[in-house]
Amino acid sequence: MLRFAPSPTGDMHIEDLRVAIFNYLVAKQRDEKFIIRIEDGDKERNIEGKDTEILQILEKFALKHDSVFHQSEHLNIHQTLAVRLLEEGKAFVCTCIPEELEVDKEELKASKTTYSYSGRCFEADKEELKKLKEDKTPFVIRIKKPDHNIIYHDVIQGEIVTTPNEVDSFVILHADGTPTYNFACACDDMLSGVDFIIRGEEHLSHTPKQKHIKEELGYEEETTYAHLPFILSKEGKRDDTLSVRWLFEQGFIPDAIANYLILIGNNTPKEIFTLPEALEWFDLEKISKSPVRFDIDKLRYLNRKHLEKIDDKRLSMVFGFADEEIGKLAKLYLEEASTLNELETRIKAIFSPKDFSGAWGEQMRILEKIIAEAPMIDTFDAFESYIKKESGLEGEKFDNPLRVLLTGAEHGPELSDIYPYIKSYLLEVAS
Ligand code: GLU
Repeated sequence: MLRFAPSPTGDMHIEDLRVAIFNYLVAKQRDEKFIIRIEDGDKERNIEGKDTEILQILEKFALKHDSVFHQSEHLNIHQTLAVRLLEEGKAFVCTCIPEELEVDKEELKASKTTYSYSGRCFEADKEELKKLKEDKTPFVIRIKKPDHNIIYHDVIQGEIVTTPNEVDSFVILHADGTPTYNFACACDDMLSGVDFIIRGEEHLSHTPKQKHIKEELGYEEETTYAHLPFILSKEGKRDDTLSVRWLFEQGFIPDAIANYLILIGNNTPKEIFTLPEALEWFDLEKISKSPVRFDIDKLRYLNRKHLEKIDDKRLSMVFGFADEEIGKLAKLYLEEASTLNELETRIKAIFSPKDFSGAWGEQMRILEKIIAEAPMIDTFDAFESYIKKESGLEGEKFDNPLRVLLTGAEHGPELSDIYPYIKSYLLEVAS
């Protein structure tokens, strides 16, 4: 069982999308279930609507899941499991007031040890717990630190060994009764039977804690872990603005984005592929553990390659048409344009009223009048000679204004290639 566990706290980062894609691929390859768990435990940070947005993004990338749930639905179970650990003597109540903890922290820093069971903490049974609640004494529940090293082999990062002091006796239930991130995450993975966890390397330090929780809860299943390296900015920094939404706004399409996220830091048999193709050969073991840098030029290149293959009519619909000829026309521009936005600018320029205020305005007016009165001419060569003859214009005084008049731009593909797609439009404008 694999899962994707996004937090609905902001725009989905491309690192998270990569995590979702990899989980999906491995689940399909192993013929196992792929579930979505929306980690909405942190009420302060949740942003309304982000959960729906995440699901919409997954749909756009055709990352089909078997089920979805919100973590907050499990609050009672998390509380019950925390109390169970308490009753079994594996956790303890901690009533240290925050100031005391701060002092502790300072002392701990000075002594270079970590937080551990202090005199102010005690093992409480149900009765004592009830009394604490009645007395309104604030307390948290901490799990006792392990008595052995926590060791596991990460598919990407290799062997990870964590000592008991590094794991520490950490909080599993906050004073308000809500579980901490690590506790909720470990409980839910256990309850869902998740035995393969792929996530970002920012979670490396959480894994020993979560393993410890699951061990104490008696979860026997051996879990495989893979922590994916960061995707940094071009300058090598972490960059929160690298979101999926931003890529869509720039006009990148899902096929290209998925291709890019599978390709980087990987050793793939091909450069250009689709998600279903990647299913054939994707291998998590080939992912490098060094961080990768986001390379927008590479993504632009892949976007062009995938736009070349997109259905013509579907492409035209992006620009508000439903006409495969427009899709074909747009594809002519893939030499110079790489995103949907750039293509849209070109297509709009062709079909919008032209600007006569530029350098070729005077000649454009002459040509426009002639075109308006010209008969329908099938080939570009015949059209060009007809207009040239009627206007008496030559050289760049003919070529440049004609191009601007037909396409709205001074540069672009050969007019002879464009003409078949716009000649009926010229006639419409003329009539
Ligand atoms: N909710 C965490 C995040 O969005 C993921 C936790 C996990 O995958 O275990 O980073």
